[in-house]
Amino acid sequence: MSRTRVVLGVFLAFILVAPLVLPAFHVTLLNYIGLYGIVALGLVLLTGVGGLTSFGQAAFVGMGAYTTAYLTTVYGVSPWLTLLAGLALTFAVSFFLGFISLRLSGHYLPLGTIAWGISLYYLFGNMEFLGGHNGISSIPAINFFGLALDSARKFDYLIWTLTLLALLSIHNLLDSRSGRAIRALKGGGQMAESFGVDTARMKIIIFVYAALLASMSGWLYAHLLRFVNPTPFSINAGIEYLFMAVVGGAASVWGAVVGAGILTILKQWLQDLLPKLLGQSGNFEMIVFGVLLVLLLQRAREGVMPLVLRYFRAPRRPLPAAAQVLPQRTRPAAGETLLELRGTRKAFGGLVAVNDLSFAMSSGEILGLIGPNGAGKSTVFDLVTGMLALTGGEVHFRGERIDILSARAIVPRGLARTFQHVHLLPAMSVLENVAIGAHLRGSKGVISAALRLERTEEAMLLAEAARQLERVGLAASMHEQAGSLALGQQRILEIARALCADPVLLLLDEPAAGLRYREKRALAELLRKLKSEGMSILLVEHDMDFVMKLVDRLVVMDFGEKLAEGMPQAIQANPVVLEAYLGGVK
Ligand code: ADP
Ligand code: MG
Repeated sequence: MSRTRVVLGVFLAFILVAPLVLPAFHVTLLNYIGLYGIVALGLVLLTGVGGLTSFGQAAFVGMGAYTTAYLTTVYGVSPWLTLLAGLALTFAVSFFLGFISLRLSGHYLPLGTIAWGISLYYLFGNMEFLGGHNGISSIPAINFFGLALDSARKFDYLIWTLTLLALLSIHNLLDSRSGRAIRALKGGGQMAESFGVDTARMKIIIFVYAALLASMSGWLYAHLLRFVNPTPFSINAGIEYLFMAVVGGAASVWGAVVGAGILTILKQWLQDLLPKLLGQSGNFEMIVFGVLLVLLLQRAREGVMPLVLRYFRAPRRPLPAAAQVLPQRTRPAAGETLLELRGTRKAFGGLVAVNDLSFAMSSGEILGLIGPNGAGKSTVFDLVTGMLALTGGEVHFRGERIDILSARAIVPRGLARTFQHVHLLPAMSVLENVAIGAHLRGSKGVISAALRLERTEEAMLLAEAARQLERVGLAASMHEQAGSLALGQQRILEIARALCADPVLLLLDEPAAGLRYREKRALAELLRKLKSEGMSILLVEHDMDFVMKLVDRLVVMDFGEKLAEGMPQAIQANPVVLEAYLGGVK
């Protein structure tokens, strides 16, 4: 049995036996760790994985707690129904708040969460019908099939069942098509978008997911204490929840439970110890907390989980067997006009990066797009793939105007790209990175992922990623971390990822940059093979040797304009080109 399973087994046994044998005080601590762990879990998803910082989670905890407190005491509604009511209310409010706040970028998002965190806190305190600052008492116990959960010991099982279910759901979610999209939000949003991920939607989803978990924790809290007042839902609590998520770290969902555990126990211990040491009472633990957090963030930015995980071998699961292969799109006939730029223009303020550029390429062709640095080649890629909006002109693909479409709508039409500066997720495996390319070839969402109902599709997506890695000759590195690959291999990874989108036109931005001689030869061979399989390629590359041997035709750009177009030999002999471009090189 693996070490992971042993530890997991011991932990589950502990959770099962603990309420029966531990002293009451420790059972209470355990209850709180579970309650806080659920909220921190949402934050691991939202902040740790998704990169969206929220200080306002305590307000959602309050929403769940107050909804049940009010409905059970005033209307006598069953707590199980008030759980649903609290979740529904939280869903509506968090969707609305997420919709507004997530448009804020950089520091404005955390500031926004502080703002509504504080507002909701004062709302709880100032609402007459919610008991003002005195709160609501006499909340009934939860009844579980006739068993009243009226003691901390009995309640512990409910808390930990829900904590473990929440943990499992997020663990499942992160290990899926949607999970890869979520993990790409931090540091790879633009790349993900270019493979069809709706990043704005993904952000809202994790925001709402985290809020729902917080609300569920609040429901539990209200029925454990049988009393609520606004204090535990203040911005201070929001900061503590964030502490927990950061201390635990995002390397594993267990970080949430570990973080909640460390902070809860430490706080209790310091609360007992510090007044004795200092000879006076006060909230000294918060000061020590602050210092510890700064130290931790200096020593271990990723939280404590990576240190813990070092003792466990990373599970290297074999690829699941896929029942079928993903369907492929119909290929255009060779020679058919594939891509056409008509007077395409892009201005960045006063700088015209692409100046009324027109050219066309047909299916089955490798077209080289060359020109000095700053000529506008990468900008052309951004315009064609919809990552930038045109200032003027049109782009047509397979007879359809695509410059009016979003990047997400363009990929499924059969266009995929690599980036001049590699855009990959270094902590994710090579296989998972490549599978992002197939995002739009799957359709299963967050809920089926959390419930593990998408395994057939997931197996097909991973099998496709493995097949493309095989195709580019990188299959041996499939399970390695993408960040550990050499630059040349990272570029090849990007080609495999683009191939995963099942493109008919591949746009490669300087794929040979940083490659050694033999790697370049292998790359040229790969591109020839792809061409022989019917792939069309638009290739930006500086290595003239590489380009001239490979391409059918060339378009030369300088200062955003087309300087020349033609066969490699003609271009090499063209005096204008020699003057402007090759002249400087040779
Ligand atoms: P190339 O890929 O041919 O080296 P680029 O397309 O990257 O050239 O850049 C063309 C010109 O546009 C350069 O002068 C560059 O500085 C400018 N440029 C590119 N992207 C932006 C941007 N997002 N904002 C402002 N200027 C840009
Ligand atoms: Mg470039």
